[in-house]
Amino acid sequence: MTEAAYDAAAYDDAARLVLTRQPAVVLTGAGISVASGIPDFRSSGGLWERYPLSDYGTIAAFRRDPKQVWTMLWALDGLISKAEPNQAHRALANMERLGLLDAIVTQNIDGLHQKAGSSRVIELHGAPRSLSCLNGCGTWQRQDFPKAAAPEPIDCPVCGAALKPDVTFFGEPIAQGALYAASHLTRYCGVMLVAGTSATVAPASQLPMMALGFGAKMIELNHEVTPLTDHSTVTLCGPLSETLPKLVAAVETLARTKEP
Ligand SMILES: [Zn+2]
Repeated sequence: MTEAAYDAAAYDDAARLVLTRQPAVVLTGAGISVASGIPDFRSSGGLWERYPLSDYGTIAAFRRDPKQVWTMLWALDGLISKAEPNQAHRALANMERLGLLDAIVTQNIDGLHQKAGSSRVIELHGAPRSLSCLNGCGTWQRQDFPKAAAPEPIDCPVCGAALKPDVTFFGEPIAQGALYAASHLTRYCGVMLVAGTSATVAPASQLPMMALGFGAKMIELNHEVTPLTDHSTVTLCGPLSETLPKLVAAVETLARTKEP
C-alpha cells in the first residue's frame, strides 16, 4: 500500500470514529499554537529558555518577587496579543459549528480557540485575561495589561497584596471548576481527539488514558510519534494546521454519504 493510500485510509477511519462515536471532545496543547507564532514554552526558543521556570514560572517565584515575574508575563502578553488563530484552531471551531465537537479542553493559555470561534473551551491552566488577589481576599478584576514602558506588578486595591494573573503557575493546583469539567467530558465522550500535545504534564496527561479506560476511542494528531501513539486508535502525523483541516474535511465528506 502506498503512503498516500494509507494516509487516506487513516483519515477515513478517523472521520468514521468522529461520526459514529459522538460525543467528541478534544484535548489540545502547545503544538496547536506553534503555527500561530507561539513556541512551545518548553522547546528551544520557548519562554522557559529566556525566563527559567524556577525563577519565573512557579507560584513561589511570584510570591518572592512579583516584579521579576511580571517581566515574563509582559513578554508573554507580547506573544499572545499579537497571535492569530491558525487553520488548526479554525478547523476545531468548524467542527463545533457542524455539531460534531462538544468541547475543547486545552492546556494553552493563549485564548486562540475562542478567537477562532470555539465557544466551549475548558482552560485547564487558566488564562491571563483576569487577575486575582494573591492573598485570597476575593478581589478579582479583568486583565488590562498596563501599557507602560516597563512591567509593574499591580497591587490589590482592597488589601494591598499583589494581584496575580489567573494562569496556573507551577506549584499551584488546577482550578477545581476546570478540572471537574474536563473529567466529566472525559468520562462521557465516545471519542477523544488529542491534538498538539504528548500529554506528559498532569493532570492533562491523565485524560486520554482515562477516556480509554471509560471505553472511548482516541485519535491522536501530533507532529510526530509520542508516548500516546501506541494507545491511540488512529494517529494522524504532521503539522496540525494541515492534519486537523484534513480530518474535518474527511468528516464532512463522510457525513454527506448516507451510511458512515
Ligand atoms: Zn486583596
